[in-house]
Amino acid sequence: MSKVKNCETVKVVVRCRPLNRKEEAAGHEQIVNMDVKLGQVTVRNPKAAPGELLKTFTFDAVYDASSKQSDLYDETVRPLIDSVLQGFNGTIFAYGQTGTGKTYTMQGAWMDPEKRGIIPNSFEHIFTHISRSQNQQYLVRASYLEIYQEEIKDLLCKDQSRKPELKENPDSGVYIKDLSSFVTKNVKEIEHVMNVGNQARSIGFTNMNEHSSRSHAIFVITVECSETGIDSENHIRVGKLNLVDLAGSERQSKTGVRGERLKEATKINLSLSALGNVISALVDGKSTHIPYRDSKLTRLLQDSLGGNAKTIMVATLGPASYNYEESLTTLRYANRAK
Ligand code: ADP
Ligand code: MG
Repeated sequence: MSKVKNCETVKVVVRCRPLNRKEEAAGHEQIVNMDVKLGQVTVRNPKAAPGELLKTFTFDAVYDASSKQSDLYDETVRPLIDSVLQGFNGTIFAYGQTGTGKTYTMQGAWMDPEKRGIIPNSFEHIFTHISRSQNQQYLVRASYLEIYQEEIKDLLCKDQSRKPELKENPDSGVYIKDLSSFVTKNVKEIEHVMNVGNQARSIGFTNMNEHSSRSHAIFVITVECSETGIDSENHIRVGKLNLVDLAGSERQSKTGVRGERLKEATKINLSLSALGNVISALVDGKSTHIPYRDSKLTRLLQDSLGGNAKTIMVATLGPASYNYEESLTTLRYANRAK
């Protein structure tokens, strides 16, 4: 695959959230600067003298603290959803340190239309497209799962004794056996599916933030379109969209972590680094081997990463000086992916 082609199929954008009230009150310095026109992010090492030690990275687009959810959607996301409606696969990731806006970017604040994130905006987009179509018939299905400790959990199934498993089949490729999926006929129905899954995600965890920082949540929408061609035959196209809120990218394996916690940390690091390796191999274009098999996450997304599929990575940052090391790590990870 040529380099040019891959540049089009993988897009990497960076978003920086505003300083929050607590950070403002504490007088934290902002060290992230974004040039929206040039698509550049500059971070300043807070330990260096002013004007010294700036690091600049260039991406397909950058979104600063004043960017709106609709800016990101219209410029970056919309074309990918259009291609899913045409029968291609697509994956959108939010990657970054906990507390930098992954969930805000993917889901947003539901009650405020201006603050709705990529997932609810894609629901509107898909069903508006369908309602305007004339000669096609659509079937939209939704699944919602989580990967925690390299195990798949079906967020839409009450019976947790049923463990969904990754299987491979020579015809259909990789699929998840026993994963539930629901046909949804409109925005309300698919929102309901999302809400049910979100609730299931928090059950059994006293600290939702802690849990979400250690697990990957994947909302999957399959759009099947059937159309009678000029040859009077029925043609079916299927596009699959994966909307992924990744585990926090912060370094998990701090010294002194042992036992279960250490095992967990190793697994999180494993799937995030496997994802980075897959994307960078795809973008590189020269690799003959794409290491999909290295983690559950990359195996699961195999048919939606590379090939004809489109991928967007939204890397999220905090603006404050105490986030410097993590922000730099996030920028380096994102930089490898473009
Ligand atoms: P993460 O999922 O990466 O842990 P969250 O999405 O939960 O982070 O964001 C942390 C906090 O910052 C939330 O209160 C969220 O509403 C707020 N936030 C994140 N990004 C933005 C943004 N771009 N604009 C305004 N508030 C944001
Ligand atoms: Mg989150």
